[in-house]
Amino acid sequence: MVSTLAYLLLGSNLGDRPARLAQARRDLAATAGRIAAASSLYETAAWGVEDQPAFLNQVLAIETELDAPTLLAACLAAEQLQQRERLVRWAARTLDVDILLFGQEVIDSPHLTVPHPALQGRRFALVPLAEVAPQLVHPVLHRTVAELLASCPDMLEVRRL
Ligand code: ADP
Ligand code: MG
Repeated sequence: MVSTLAYLLLGSNLGDRPARLAQARRDLAATAGRIAAASSLYETAAWGVEDQPAFLNQVLAIETELDAPTLLAACLAAEQLQQRERLVRWAARTLDVDILLFGQEVIDSPHLTVPHPALQGRRFALVPLAEVAPQLVHPVLHRTVAELLASCPDMLEVRRL
Protein backbone atom coordinates (compact mmCIF):
# COMPACT_ATOMS: atom_id res chain seq x y z
CA MET A 1 0.00 0.00 0.00
CA VAL A 2 1.13 3.52 -0.75
CA SER A 3 1.28 5.63 2.35
CA THR A 4 0.72 9.37 2.43
CA LEU A 5 1.65 11.95 5.03
CA ALA A 6 -1.50 13.95 5.74
CA TYR A 7 -1.85 16.95 8.04
CA LEU A 8 -5.03 17.25 10.10
CA LEU A 9 -6.28 20.15 12.20
CA LEU A 10 -8.18 19.21 15.35
CA GLY A 11 -10.34 21.80 17.11
CA SER A 12 -12.56 21.74 20.19
CA ASN A 13 -14.34 24.46 22.12
CA LEU A 14 -16.66 22.49 24.37
CA GLY A 15 -16.18 20.53 27.55
CA ASP A 16 -12.82 19.07 28.52
CA ARG A 17 -11.06 20.26 25.40
CA PRO A 18 -7.65 18.56 25.96
CA ALA A 19 -9.43 15.28 26.70
CA ARG A 20 -11.46 15.62 23.52
CA LEU A 21 -8.31 16.15 21.46
CA ALA A 22 -6.68 13.18 23.18
CA GLN A 23 -9.70 11.01 22.37
CA ALA A 24 -9.56 12.20 18.76
CA ARG A 25 -5.87 11.22 18.56
CA ARG A 26 -6.70 7.73 19.83
CA ASP A 27 -9.65 7.33 17.45
CA LEU A 28 -7.69 8.56 14.43
CA ALA A 29 -4.69 6.38 15.29
CA ALA A 30 -7.07 3.40 15.25
CA THR A 31 -8.86 4.29 12.02
CA ALA A 32 -6.56 6.47 9.90
CA GLY A 33 -2.94 5.58 10.58
CA ARG A 34 0.15 6.20 12.64
CA ILE A 35 0.50 9.67 14.15
CA ALA A 36 3.96 10.70 12.98
CA ALA A 37 3.95 14.13 14.67
CA ALA A 38 1.67 16.18 16.89
CA SER A 39 1.94 19.90 17.58
CA SER A 40 1.46 21.55 20.94
CA LEU A 41 -2.05 22.61 21.89
CA TYR A 42 -2.93 26.21 21.00
CA GLU A 43 -5.80 28.35 22.26
CA THR A 44 -7.60 30.83 20.00
CA ALA A 45 -10.71 32.93 20.50
CA ALA A 46 -13.69 31.56 18.54
CA TRP A 47 -13.76 33.03 15.05
CA GLY A 48 -16.39 35.73 14.56
CA VAL A 49 -18.94 34.15 16.87
CA GLU A 50 -19.36 35.87 20.20
CA ASP A 51 -20.44 34.10 23.39
CA GLN A 52 -18.55 30.97 22.41
CA PRO A 53 -15.71 29.51 24.41
CA ALA A 54 -12.21 29.66 22.95
CA PHE A 55 -10.94 26.84 20.78
CA LEU A 56 -8.08 24.48 21.43
CA ASN A 57 -6.35 23.45 18.21
CA GLN A 58 -3.72 20.88 17.38
CA VAL A 59 -2.15 19.68 14.14
CA LEU A 60 -1.39 16.00 13.56
CA ALA A 61 0.80 14.50 10.86
CA ILE A 62 -0.69 11.12 10.01
CA GLU A 63 0.96 8.45 7.93
CA THR A 64 -2.05 6.92 6.26
CA GLU A 65 -2.72 4.19 3.73
CA LEU A 66 -6.22 5.55 3.14
CA ASP A 67 -7.10 7.63 0.11
CA ALA A 68 -8.26 11.19 0.77
CA PRO A 69 -12.06 10.60 0.69
CA THR A 70 -11.69 7.65 3.05
CA LEU A 71 -9.50 9.72 5.37
CA LEU A 72 -12.20 12.42 5.37
CA ALA A 73 -14.75 9.75 6.34
CA ALA A 74 -12.48 8.73 9.24
CA CYS A 75 -12.22 12.38 10.34
CA LEU A 76 -16.00 12.81 10.27
CA ALA A 77 -16.45 9.50 12.14
CA ALA A 78 -14.09 10.74 14.88
CA GLU A 79 -16.27 13.88 15.18
CA GLN A 80 -19.41 11.74 15.40
CA LEU A 81 -17.95 9.63 18.21
CA GLN A 82 -17.56 12.73 20.34
CA GLN A 83 -20.86 14.34 19.46
CA ARG A 84 -22.53 11.32 20.98
CA GLU A 85 -20.99 12.20 24.32
CA ARG A 86 -22.29 15.73 24.52
CA LEU A 87 -25.64 17.31 25.22
CA VAL A 88 -27.55 17.98 22.01
CA ARG A 89 -28.61 21.46 23.03
CA TRP A 90 -25.06 22.90 22.93
CA ALA A 91 -24.29 24.64 19.68
CA ALA A 92 -20.52 24.88 20.13
CA ARG A 93 -18.20 22.31 18.54
CA THR A 94 -17.05 19.35 20.58
CA LEU A 95 -14.66 18.30 17.88
CA ASP A 96 -13.77 19.46 14.38
CA VAL A 97 -11.28 17.52 12.27
CA ASP A 98 -10.17 19.07 8.99
CA ILE A 99 -7.72 17.82 6.38
CA LEU A 100 -5.20 20.61 5.78
CA LEU A 101 -2.94 18.75 3.37
CA PHE A 102 -2.84 15.27 1.88
CA GLY A 103 0.70 14.75 0.65
CA GLN A 104 1.10 16.99 -2.37
CA GLU A 105 -2.36 16.11 -3.73
CA VAL A 106 -4.70 18.81 -4.99
CA ILE A 107 -8.38 17.84 -4.69
CA ASP A 108 -11.41 19.92 -5.59
CA SER A 109 -14.59 17.88 -5.23
CA PRO A 110 -18.00 18.82 -3.81
CA HIS A 111 -17.20 17.18 -0.47
CA LEU A 112 -13.47 17.68 -0.20
CA THR A 113 -11.10 20.52 -1.00
CA VAL A 114 -7.40 19.91 -0.37
CA PRO A 115 -5.28 21.79 0.51
CA HIS A 116 -7.85 23.26 2.90
CA PRO A 117 -8.96 26.49 1.19
CA ALA A 118 -8.77 28.59 4.37
CA LEU A 119 -5.35 27.35 5.53
CA GLN A 120 -3.32 30.37 4.38
CA GLY A 121 -5.77 32.80 6.04
CA ARG A 122 -5.92 31.28 9.51
CA ARG A 123 -3.24 31.63 12.12
CA PHE A 124 -4.85 28.96 14.31
CA ALA A 125 -4.07 26.44 11.56
CA LEU A 126 -0.74 27.84 10.35
CA VAL A 127 0.87 28.27 13.79
CA PRO A 128 0.54 24.60 14.86
CA LEU A 129 1.33 23.42 11.31
CA ALA A 130 4.49 25.53 11.30
CA GLU A 131 5.55 23.88 14.56
CA VAL A 132 5.60 20.40 12.97
CA ALA A 133 6.30 21.18 9.29
CA PRO A 134 7.69 24.70 8.69
CA GLN A 135 9.47 23.76 5.44
CA LEU A 136 6.53 21.89 3.90
CA VAL A 137 5.63 23.44 0.54
CA HIS A 138 1.97 24.21 -0.21
CA PRO A 139 1.23 22.37 -3.51
CA VAL A 140 -0.90 25.19 -4.94
CA LEU A 141 0.70 28.34 -3.52
CA HIS A 142 4.26 26.95 -3.84
CA ARG A 143 5.32 28.58 -0.60
CA THR A 144 6.46 27.00 2.64
CA VAL A 145 4.24 26.92 5.71
CA ALA A 146 6.69 29.28 7.44
CA GLU A 147 6.34 31.77 4.58
CA LEU A 148 2.55 31.51 4.61
CA LEU A 149 2.53 32.19 8.35
CA ALA A 150 4.84 35.20 7.98
CA SER A 151 2.49 36.78 5.44
CA CYS A 152 -0.83 35.71 7.04
CA PRO A 153 -3.13 38.72 7.50
CA ASP A 154 -5.11 37.06 10.35
CA MET A 155 -4.44 38.91 13.61
CA LEU A 156 -6.17 36.60 16.10
CA GLU A 157 -3.84 35.68 18.92
CA VAL A 158 -2.87 31.99 18.93
CA ARG A 159 -1.53 31.12 22.37
CA ARG A 160 0.58 28.04 22.99
CA LEU A 161 -0.56 26.19 26.11
P1 ADP B 1 -15.85 23.60 8.98
O1 ADP B 1 -14.73 22.64 9.26
O2 ADP B 1 -15.59 24.46 7.76
O3 ADP B 1 -16.24 24.41 10.17
P2 ADP B 1 -17.57 21.28 8.98
O4 ADP B 1 -16.60 20.69 9.94
O5 ADP B 1 -18.99 21.32 9.39
O6 ADP B 1 -17.14 22.76 8.57
O7 ADP B 1 -17.39 20.47 7.62
C1 ADP B 1 -18.35 20.52 6.63
C2 ADP B 1 -17.88 19.73 5.40
O8 ADP B 1 -16.73 20.28 4.82
C3 ADP B 1 -17.47 18.28 5.62
O9 ADP B 1 -18.56 17.43 5.73
C4 ADP B 1 -16.65 18.00 4.36
O10 ADP B 1 -17.41 17.33 3.37
C5 ADP B 1 -16.29 19.38 3.84
N1 ADP B 1 -14.86 19.56 3.55
C6 ADP B 1 -14.37 20.04 2.38
N2 ADP B 1 -13.03 20.08 2.41
C7 ADP B 1 -12.66 19.61 3.64
C8 ADP B 1 -11.38 19.41 4.25
N3 ADP B 1 -10.23 19.71 3.63
N4 ADP B 1 -11.38 18.90 5.52
C9 ADP B 1 -12.53 18.62 6.16
N5 ADP B 1 -13.76 18.79 5.62
C10 ADP B 1 -13.83 19.28 4.37
MG1 MG C 1 -14.55 20.63 9.69
